Amino acid sequence: MLDIKITKTTNPKPLPTADNPLKFGTIFTDHMFLMNYETGKGWFNPRVVPYANLELDPASMVLHYGQEMFEGMKAYRHPDGTPVLFRPDMNAKRANNSNKRLCIPMIPEEDFVQAVKAVVKVDEKWIPTKPGTSLYIRPFIIATDPFLGVRPSDTYLFVVILCPVGAYYPEGLNPVKIWIEDEYVRAVKGGIGEAKTGGNYVASMAAQMKAHEEGYSQVLWLDGVERKYIEEVGAMNIFFKIDGKVVTPMLNGSILPGITRNSCIALCKDWGYTVEERKVSAEELYEAAKNGKLEEVWGTGTAAVISPVGHLRFNDHVIQIKDGGIGELSQKLYDTVTGIQLGTVKDTKGWIQVVE
Ligand SMILES: *Cc1c(COP(=O)(O)O)cnc(C)c1O
Repeated sequence: MLDIKITKTTNPKPLPTADNPLKFGTIFTDHMFLMNYETGKGWFNPRVVPYANLELDPASMVLHYGQEMFEGMKAYRHPDGTPVLFRPDMNAKRANNSNKRLCIPMIPEEDFVQAVKAVVKVDEKWIPTKPGTSLYIRPFIIATDPFLGVRPSDTYLFVVILCPVGAYYPEGLNPVKIWIEDEYVRAVKGGIGEAKTGGNYVASMAAQMKAHEEGYSQVLWLDGVERKYIEEVGAMNIFFKIDGKVVTPMLNGSILPGITRNSCIALCKDWGYTVEERKVSAEELYEAAKNGKLEEVWGTGTAAVISPVGHLRFNDHVIQIKDGGIGELSQKLYDTVTGIQLGTVKDTKGWIQVVE
């Protein structure tokens, strides 16, 4: 158990009004969680403090060598007003997997969850109530040694910040157009693709720009070696319904193990679907689409939960998924996962934790 010291702001910001569109990641709450680390001393000084700039030495190692990790999760409000988290233990576990790969010290899982709950509790009134809205939580760790040399840092800062976010699709689920990238790659086996870290995102930006210029909203990455097999979307895992079966690329060391992915696999199995975690080539998708067997495509991630894909572009091929609308299973997954999160569908799996 952390002994968290809480210092509340004397100058609270006005809460966003109900008609504020809450553009993702632009508004931050009144407080943040901080905790320091030093080699030999471990994690110390856990505290909730007023949201403010961080003070960093310009030589801080994170700024030069990118030693940092992050997580992404959300707090929701149940109909009776109770603030809840969705599977925060999974985020804590994944955080430590990232930490291990990036030579960042581990945080005990229960301390990670306690830290998140502590700051969410203090800023509880920032969890918006309008349907589809939530409080996005961004825990992250940065290397802070002032040192220009490559080695793991001896000092770190763990930070948790919060932002109220609107419905990802204010007009309801909206199919996206996806660009299958065959020039740039995001990650390779043995690299850092499995860790949630900024380095993977900077590696993705050039392809993202290219896709945007072509009128596509997201990039779908192929494997880094053969550029043949589907890996994932920029910040989402990907699923296909092919000839009645649910198919998703297996976790192979270069794909981020999404918690929404894991939840969708569990639900699809409960509903009696055959779920195959395996290699899927872009060619297979093209063939399946040609033969009318590519029934649905959707992305999964905390931000949008389910993102139906209406259209894929692979080289000169355009793959149109059915009528470009929203598939039945995509819709059912969206309704079920968001229902459990918002407390309108019974949580039979113990995925919800109350913030208290
Ligand atoms: C965070 C992330 C995902 C989605 O994970 P969730 O836990 O479902 O939010 C997928 N891919 C990448 C690269 C990510 O960073």
